[in-house]
Amino acid sequence: MLRIDLDVFSTVSDALGYSWADRMVIAAGTRIRGALGPDVPLARLEGASFAALLVDCSIEDAHRAAERLRVQLSEPYPVDRLSVEANAMIGYASSADDAGEVDVDGLLQRADVAVRATRGGEEVRGYVPSMGQIFLRRFQMVTQFRQSLEDGHVSVHYQPKVTLPNRQVQGVEALVRWVHPEFGRLGPDEFVPAIEAAGLIGVLTSFVLEQSLKRVRKWLDEGLRISAAVNLSVRNLSDDDFPAKVQRELERFDVPPELLTFELTESGVMSDPQKALPILRELHSLGIVLAVDDFGTGYSSLAYLRQLPVDQVKIDKSFVLGMGTDLGDLAVVRSIVELGHSLGLTVVAEGVEEDVARDQLEAMGCDVAQGYLISRPLPEDRLEAWLQARTARSPGRHSETVLTLLT
Ligand code: C2E
Ligand code: CA
Ligand code: CA
Repeated sequence: MLRIDLDVFSTVSDALGYSWADRMVIAAGTRIRGALGPDVPLARLEGASFAALLVDCSIEDAHRAAERLRVQLSEPYPVDRLSVEANAMIGYASSADDAGEVDVDGLLQRADVAVRATRGGEEVRGYVPSMGQIFLRRFQMVTQFRQSLEDGHVSVHYQPKVTLPNRQVQGVEALVRWVHPEFGRLGPDEFVPAIEAAGLIGVLTSFVLEQSLKRVRKWLDEGLRISAAVNLSVRNLSDDDFPAKVQRELERFDVPPELLTFELTESGVMSDPQKALPILRELHSLGIVLAVDDFGTGYSSLAYLRQLPVDQVKIDKSFVLGMGTDLGDLAVVRSIVELGHSLGLTVVAEGVEEDVARDQLEAMGCDVAQGYLISRPLPEDRLEAWLQARTARSPGRHSETVLTLLT
């Protein structure tokens, strides 16, 4: 079973209207019929998606036929006096590579999963069972996320950050965790991209923000000024109402804006600066601290960094982890510290796992350290226990209490 998708339908109908898109589909259908011959059952499924059934065909032959078809379908289409280009993606599934029975619907579904897996650049892909599992897992993740939030399966862990060289607890980074009833512990790297793609990032960010501000409020009530850093995704910055929502939350918990930090990756901001910049400026003018996360891994354009309304750079942990053994990494870390300071920014190092790394960072003048050496990200109650056991309380310059890491 071949599933053939052309990526033209929405673009052509947006630009030229539906009747043009229909003509495109007819032209593509004719071309597929011509390529596969008159005896192959062929169907248009929807939009510019087709299915073809190759009977008595080996998997190798199916793959070759799909490759050939893809090349033919990618030739420009003369539609009236225009020439329209299209990109074809083909997924296929076979009843021959499965010991169990699979019916036509099952085959169609597998071919559909395979065609979705082509989006990585490989434009012809055969179905393999692991694809189905990944797809199903992602599907379940996005459909179950809201319910999991309600059921209390999603929580926020906090990882402390300390200033160098005096080792005072300056803030925490909020890192989301999900214990899924079926899949167990899920890391954010696994589910945040799926949540983002499904348009649910706003729900996630609101939750993390609310939990973090609640936590900061409790500390303030105990006389502690500890800030919280929340990770944002690019999609948060395409929501024009985001700054107003954040301001309402700050007011609701009566937290001063300088005790809230937003961390953003450079590539996030760079992907759509027109959209992102006005929102960042608005957040900044509210008095919220802005940090560039994973610095050194993306474009790392110095000229660009100057134009961003940011207060902090976070050196990516890969450089900090490699610093002890790799002179190149050490040089990168040193230059980011210098660059950051020359732009008047606070420099934070993440991934500090060893004493040596902390000492080197301190010697370079890095301002803040975060990493397993200080603490792993901890659930709220364990963080409280950590603060009790691992820090000493002393009066600060104003009426606040300062927490200093015990050695
Ligand atoms: P990140 O913002 O770079 O967060 C730091 C990651 O490094 C965390 O992984 C943390 O557990 C890990 N880490 C901290 N110290 C060390 C260390 O000393 N050594 C090593 N090897 N790793 C360390 P985590 O919690 O798995 O989060 C992964 C990523 O997921 C985060 O990277 C962030 O980009 C994203 N993320 C987490 N929470 C949220 C959230 O609430 N919203 C959004 N949009 N993204 C989130
Ligand atoms: Ca971060
Ligand atoms: Ca980071």
